[in-house]
Amino acid sequence: MENQSMEKQSELYRGKAKTVYTTADPNFLILEFRDDTSAFDGERIEQLSRKGMVNNRFNHFIMSKLAAAGIPTQMERLLSDTECLVKKLDMIPVECVVRNRAAGSLVRRLGVEEGLELNPPTFELFLKNDALHDPMVNETHAIAFGWATAEQLAEMKRLTFAVNAVLKSLFDEAGMLLVDYKLEFGVFEGTIVLGDEFSPDGCRLWDKETLTKLDKDRFRQGLGGVVEAYEEVAKRLGVELPA
Ligand code: ADP
Ligand code: UDP
Repeated sequence: MENQSMEKQSELYRGKAKTVYTTADPNFLILEFRDDTSAFDGERIEQLSRKGMVNNRFNHFIMSKLAAAGIPTQMERLLSDTECLVKKLDMIPVECVVRNRAAGSLVRRLGVEEGLELNPPTFELFLKNDALHDPMVNETHAIAFGWATAEQLAEMKRLTFAVNAVLKSLFDEAGMLLVDYKLEFGVFEGTIVLGDEFSPDGCRLWDKETLTKLDKDRFRQGLGGVVEAYEEVAKRLGVELPA
């Protein structure tokens, strides 16, 4: 049964970057990280060689660090270069974003300078809906529309900041600034658990000295060297990657 449950059964969902498969055990899913890279709510998609492997291994590394720090995560184990076994969560369709510095949509929305330090770090919610371009929402929307309860939102916020405490220093020690990041949570047996992925696809990382961008902004802005930058981040953290 243990062996059987590690096999992919059927495709449950094909997202923009990952494919989700069922297993023989209804409590577990397999996430397959593909090389597809999308921006602008899926309007632009390209295949970047090695990206699936790098993000899968990176995500496993980060989720293991977070679990060790007491944050409940989906992660069970790495299955292959591009696959991991995770708890099947009942996903909450709201993304949690923490920002330590201004970038991206915050700069566009408020006209502040990119790189501005945010003290305290900000916390924002976005509805996961590509057709509506992931609009920003607040807690009362989430509760009124039944996306999450007040208690679940409070726990998501607490965990999102707990992640900041762990990862800000992890990246700092490796010479990088954690500018911002997006997390997705779900419910497993009644508790809020961190799901989806943490990788350079869903956060902003800048070199501490040169402020060089080492994340998906390289793709969004056509800067090139996207996977090379992700591999550099992985190398600095000590994530093992096959040649
Ligand atoms: P998108 O749906 O934005 O195109 P992906 O390509 O990353 O994104 O697809 C992965 C999908 O799997 C997402 O919809 C995500 O919410 C969902 N997901 C991630 N982790 C889990 C999990 N542990 N349990 C159930 N669903 C998950
Ligand atoms: N982000 C993400 N998925 C989304 C929207 C945002 O992973 O659908 C991440 C993004 O990579 C960045 C952070 O969340 O690290 C904040 O994104 P922002 O609101 O600035 O939007 P963007 O300009 O990146 O679309």
